[in-house]
Amino acid sequence: MLDDNLRASRQTAHDRPDLKISFEFFPPKTDVMEEKFWDTVHKLAPLKPRFVSVTYGAGGSTRERTLRMVSRIKAETGVDAAAHLTCVGATRAEVDAVARGYKDAGINRIVALRGDPPEGVGQPFVPHPEGYQNAADLVGGLRRIGNFDISVAAYPEKHPQSPDWASEIDNLKRKLDAGADRAITQMFFSNPDYLRYVDRARAAGVTAPIVPGIQPIHNFRQIANFAARCGTAIPGWLAERFDGLDDEPETHALVAAAVAAEQVTELVDEGVTEFHIYTHNRSPLALALGRVLGLRHEVPVAGAA
Ligand code: FAD
Repeated sequence: MLDDNLRASRQTAHDRPDLKISFEFFPPKTDVMEEKFWDTVHKLAPLKPRFVSVTYGAGGSTRERTLRMVSRIKAETGVDAAAHLTCVGATRAEVDAVARGYKDAGINRIVALRGDPPEGVGQPFVPHPEGYQNAADLVGGLRRIGNFDISVAAYPEKHPQSPDWASEIDNLKRKLDAGADRAITQMFFSNPDYLRYVDRARAAGVTAPIVPGIQPIHNFRQIANFAARCGTAIPGWLAERFDGLDDEPETHALVAAAVAAEQVTELVDEGVTEFHIYTHNRSPLALALGRVLGLRHEVPVAGAA
């Protein structure tokens, strides 16, 4: 085992490189969900994330809500907000109009994605006849519209539609060469998969940051279902840790915090300095991870004006 002085995760904030964190939300569907959304945003904003992002529902179904949420986050908290944008099922003109709407609202960060067909990721993707062909094509289009900071997706276990590793990494490279600034990964639970992916990308000449997307396990069953759909493996050890905890929410939450903390701590020790946390619009595990990564709420000084 490494000595503490060789582990970045065991250094104080003063001695280790700054860790950067971003949080991802989805646009709430109901008034009750919206209340929880804003509660979470206001609890996480004081950690001063580099940015927070709000997803874009399948086929543009959340277009207005995504824009409303990112605009209000920026206005109310001062935190930079990124809007996700997909090109599935839409013409270039429609997608460009959404991007111009982001730009006009002062949103200069976009997470640019292809999206999935309405029948799910298992079905072949057929671009709209007048639409962007894929995420790389979309990034090129966005670059023509404005000086956005653009993130794209990366898949440490390969995208389910990538036939082999060469295609996977080629596709990542195409997106970055088209003008994206960084990649954010799909959730993964095996750190070696992520580290190997980064090695493959670097060997292919990719220099942009590949930020690990960390999924705290709020609900093991839900996450396992989602993982099966998006090609993320659930290792046996992980399933064992949550086995039998469906009706024990407190233990489930503690195990989830331990698993996520272990994952980010190992990555910090491997030299990773940027993290993207999938919050599912909930604050406790995201706040705990912020702590583990050394981020603090700013506590007002008693007596200060
Ligand atoms: P692309 O990078 O375009 O490619 C996906 C696959 O197609 C790859 O296998 C690639 O190899 C193959 N491919 C692409 N171009 C070619 C080509 N020219 N020839 C051959 N093969 C090609 N979905 C949403 O609906 N809304 C969201 O807000 C959202 N946010 C996300 C955020 C992150 C961080 C991640 C990781 C995913 C997100 N997704 C979202 C899911 C995403 O839309 C799906 O994973 C989708 O299946 C792929 O999108 P992409 O941008 O990676 O596609």
